[in-house]
Amino acid sequence: MKCHSRGPPRSGAGTVVAMTTLATTAAVRDLFDKCAGFRPVVDDLRRRHVYQAQYRVVLEGPLDHRIRVRHPFTGGLHEMLCFDSNSYLGLHLHPRVLDATRRALDVMGYGTPSAQLLAGTNRYLCELEERVAAFHGREACLIFPSGYAASIGVATGLLGAGDVVVHDQFTHASLQDGARWSGAHKRSYRHADTADLEAALVASPADGGRLVVTDGVFSMHGRLAPLPELRAIADRHHARLLVDEAHSIGVMGATGRGIEETFGMPGAADVLIGTFSKAPGAVGGYVAGSGDLIDYLRVFARSSLFTASLPAAICAGITEAFRVMQEEPEHRERLWRNACRFWGALRDLGLLVPPLESPIVPVFAGHEHLLQTLSRELFLAGVKCGNVSHPAVPRGDAILRFSVNARHTDEDLDRAADTLATLGRRYGILGLGADEIRAIGASLPPLEAIPGV
Ligand code: PMP
Repeated sequence: MKCHSRGPPRSGAGTVVAMTTLATTAAVRDLFDKCAGFRPVVDDLRRRHVYQAQYRVVLEGPLDHRIRVRHPFTGGLHEMLCFDSNSYLGLHLHPRVLDATRRALDVMGYGTPSAQLLAGTNRYLCELEERVAAFHGREACLIFPSGYAASIGVATGLLGAGDVVVHDQFTHASLQDGARWSGAHKRSYRHADTADLEAALVASPADGGRLVVTDGVFSMHGRLAPLPELRAIADRHHARLLVDEAHSIGVMGATGRGIEETFGMPGAADVLIGTFSKAPGAVGGYVAGSGDLIDYLRVFARSSLFTASLPAAICAGITEAFRVMQEEPEHRERLWRNACRFWGALRDLGLLVPPLESPIVPVFAGHEHLLQTLSRELFLAGVKCGNVSHPAVPRGDAILRFSVNARHTDEDLDRAADTLATLGRRYGILGLGADEIRAIGASLPPLEAIPGV
């Protein structure tokens, strides 16, 4: 770091001060040292051609069941099957949703250049809040610019020093961040392990407020939270229950109302969080609950208060998406049909997949080396899926994450399954259990650069 002292130190007290300043500045590291220190990591991933097919893949068209991307190695256009979209019902491309968005765009302009507190609230946002509250059978709803912002606002608005928050270890990062920043006493319980949750609550201080936090459908493995048990435990220990329904709305339950509907427990969550960036196909997040809760959060959820709201046109599009979700069940039916077809094909091949609980299909890869190898080979073969490793999952439990949606065709699903079959045979993982797959991964060398690229 540069020393900004002007000229040589003077004598007397001034000398002492200047010498101290010099000594201190010499010991202080530049804030950006960590960025420079990280550079070799990124460079190494690039050199080995790991980075290019995983981060910042440039889309030249809509995120759909098939995508066109700029090929990171040739620079040409690359047609791919895509299993990375969370638009489970394909509503981001639905003509009714697009029309509603366009109509509001013409009336209201494209942005929201102020905070609600100052400039008022556009009527499309009010309509959307009412529709979402009604959809979940709640008194009220508060909308945020993203699901991430909703989690942060709710956790930091509701919790404080002296309170206790206990969350599933695989709860989405946004809620874990919010819980951490809230200053509450934060603990996690082993994934879906209700005995561990109960033990954590028993060991918690008795005087503060208590919140149990879970995803409805877990974003990486697609598993469902054990809602009935969580509700019973929360009741036994005088805790409130927060459920993040990001991946369940439009998807789970006979009419797409989330895991409360799956379990036949309407209103089970005291605090229901959702996002518009999955089945509704847009962007934005929300919390739904009692009128008291929402009026409180309107003032204390700072990630809603001190930020601009969703543009009117987006709100109009999302409202229409909710209407379509209710009026056109065929998208959800198609989604589940697709998920069953794909999951069944992978299971029949002998790939290690857990029971199907949602349209998120994780394929076990175990070791990082196998994950990177498979994911690059899939990419080169024209199949784009998520590759998930530590810290999103425990070390040694890496997965390829396939998110199936209603727009996939049978041909898409069968082609992806065929590609996985070829790779499964090539690396000898078909029909094996987790330990054996891990051992195969550990025996592979780290991924090296593609020759000739
Ligand atoms: N919760 C869960 C469970 C999620 O999977 C996500 C997004 N991946 C979020 C919250 C954040 O939502 P958004 O992308 O709308 O910020």
